[in-house]
Amino acid sequence: MVFDVLIIGGGAAGMSCALVLGSAKDKTFAKNKNIAIITHQKTSHLQNALFNNVLGLTPGTLGADILNNGKQQLKDLYPHVNQIEKEKVTAVEKQLKGFTVTTNKNTYHSKIVVIAVGYTDMCTIKGIESYIEPHPRAAIEKKRIWLKNTNHLIEDNLYVAGTLAGWRSQFAMACGSGSHIATDILTLWNDGKHTKIHDKV
Ligand SMILES: Cc1cc2nc3c(=O)[nH]c(=O)nc-3n(C[C@H](O)[C@H](O)[C@H](O)COP(=O)(O)OP(=O)(O)OC[C@H]3O[C@@H](n4cnc5c(N)ncnc54)[C@H](O)[C@@H]3O)c2cc1C
Repeated sequence: MVFDVLIIGGGAAGMSCALVLGSAKDKTFAKNKNIAIITHQKTSHLQNALFNNVLGLTPGTLGADILNNGKQQLKDLYPHVNQIEKEKVTAVEKQLKGFTVTTNKNTYHSKIVVIAVGYTDMCTIKGIESYIEPHPRAAIEKKRIWLKNTNHLIEDNLYVAGTLAGWRSQFAMACGSGSHIATDILTLWNDGKHTKIHDKV
């Protein structure tokens, strides 16, 4: 199967992107789109985080709980979004049409890829080395990285989200980055006509 979108990374940015894409399920332009997220969470910065300063989150919320609840929210509300668990991506390779994404267990094909694996310099994914640069908005001694991009786009159909896109490390910013990309992709599917997904009371 070829995915229309494959999101790599199940942290703040990746899960936010998946939720917004999933929420477009009733739009004609999003019907029959195959969406997937590799929900690897072991190295998420959310694992140790404690949140008091995020609008909408009860003070004292644990990042570890957001990781679990996020997967459940996606499963309950948008079960058509495939969650690929316990796999770590080792390579992203451009093909004539789309990309091949290799994990420690499988190989996937996708027309669009969103990379949301965080901004540590431990990133060992083959195929993206040429885009790696020192992070433009982090202390140099921390050795953070970003993937060079313009408005989240690295090249056609290849996006980077969250801290790895060059944003400072704040939860709301990472979520916003993932959501932003989702609306860019939905706009693309909607033949370039700007769109967003809102639920109403
Ligand atoms: C201790 C701590 C406290 C914090 N406190 C606050 C706070 O009070 N307020 C606030 O706003 N922000 C806080 N933050 C920052 C916030 O947690 C981050 O900004 C946010 O998690 C970044 O989101 P991200 O999606 O860019 O990266 P992450 O959330 O780190 O997600 C990256 C994801 O990619 C996955 N991944 C990595 N490599 C691969 C691979 N090869 N294949 C597949 N998946 C992979 C990881 O497992 C992870 O799930 C805190 C962070 C820490 C560490």
